[in-house]
Amino acid sequence: MEVPCVRVPPEEGEATRQVLAEADLIADDFEITVAEDWLYVPVTDPEAVPDDLEVVSKDVPERETQTTPADLLEFEPSYERLGDVVLLDEDDPERARELADAVVASDLPVETVLNKASKVKGETRVREWELLAGEDTETVHREYGCEFALDLAEVYFSPRLATERNRVAEQVADGERAFDMFAGVGPFVIPFATRGADCVGVDVNETAITYLRENARRNGVTDRVTAINDDVRAVAPDYADWADRIVMNLPHSADDFLESAVTIAGDDCILHYYDIQHEDDPFGPGEDAIRSVAEPEYEVTVATRRTVRSYAPHELNVCLDVCLER
Ligand code: SAM
Repeated sequence: MEVPCVRVPPEEGEATRQVLAEADLIADDFEITVAEDWLYVPVTDPEAVPDDLEVVSKDVPERETQTTPADLLEFEPSYERLGDVVLLDEDDPERARELADAVVASDLPVETVLNKASKVKGETRVREWELLAGEDTETVHREYGCEFALDLAEVYFSPRLATERNRVAEQVADGERAFDMFAGVGPFVIPFATRGADCVGVDVNETAITYLRENARRNGVTDRVTAINDDVRAVAPDYADWADRIVMNLPHSADDFLESAVTIAGDDCILHYYDIQHEDDPFGPGEDAIRSVAEPEYEVTVATRRTVRSYAPHELNVCLDVCLER
C-alpha cells in the first residue's frame, strides 16, 4: 500500500527513526523498508516532518500485529528499553515477576529483564539489579546513530538521558576540543567524536573506561578519543587550558570538581553542568558555585537553564550551559 515515507540512506536510518519516533510521527501499522539503496520510514503526518527530511510516497508492507506486554497484562506496564534488555522499577516482587514473564512472552526483541534492586550509589554510580530473565547484564544499546556496549552491573548508564545528550552533541563542531570529566562508557564522548571533536573522557571506573575504548572502536572514532582511567582531579593539570567544551555529568557533587573544570577550560569554553536541586531554586546553587570558582578569571554567562527531568518529588535534574570567557 502506498503511504508517505521519509526516505534516507540506510546509514542515517536509526538516527532518523529516533527523530521521528520522538516526534511521534512513525506510522506503526507499516513496516520500515529498505529498497533500491534507500530506507523508507512510514510516517503518520508528512506535513509535520522536519524540513531537512525528504518525504516520498512508497509502497510498503503492512505490519503484522505484534503482541506487546500490555496485551498480556491487565495493566499498562512501565519499563525502559536498553539494547536487548528491559529495565523494570518494581518494588513488588510478584508484580515484577508477572511483568517479566509478559515481556518474555511478548514479541519485544528482548533477551534480558532486570529489576532495579538499589539506587545508583557510591563513586561509580552503579546500581544493583535483580536478573528476572536472561543470562547476563551486558548489552549493546543504540542511541542517535551511535552504538554503546556496556554492562549494567558494572557501569552507570541511563537511556532516559538520550534526548539531553543529543541536545548537547548537536552543539559540537568539527575540530573542537571536548573534555568529559565523568565519561562513563562514552554517551557524550562518542557522539561528540563522530561530529569531528577531539575528545578526552575520564572516569574512575576502570570497566567504564574499557567500554569507552571499545565503543570508540565500534563507532570508528578511536583516533579522536583519549580514554583515561583516573580521578579527574589528578588528570586536570595535564589538560590545563585545553578544552573548548566540558561536560560535568555528576549531579549531587559536580561542585566539588569545579576547580578542575576551570583548570581544564581554555580561553573560551562551554561548560555543561548537571545538577540535582530543589524545584524552588533548581539553577541558583549551580550558577553560584560556578561563579565563585571561575570569576574573576573568566566572565561567566549562563546561556541555557534547562530542566532535564524530574528526579524525585520536588527535586529536578537540571543542566546549565555556561560560557566561560577569559
Ligand atoms: N557521563 C556518563 C553518562 O552520562 O552516562 C556517566 C555519568 S555517571 C552519573 C558519573 C560517572 O562519573 C561515573 O561513571 C563515575 O564512575 C564517574 N566518576 C565519579 N567520580 C569521579 C572522579 N572523581 N573522577 C572521574 N570520574 C568519576
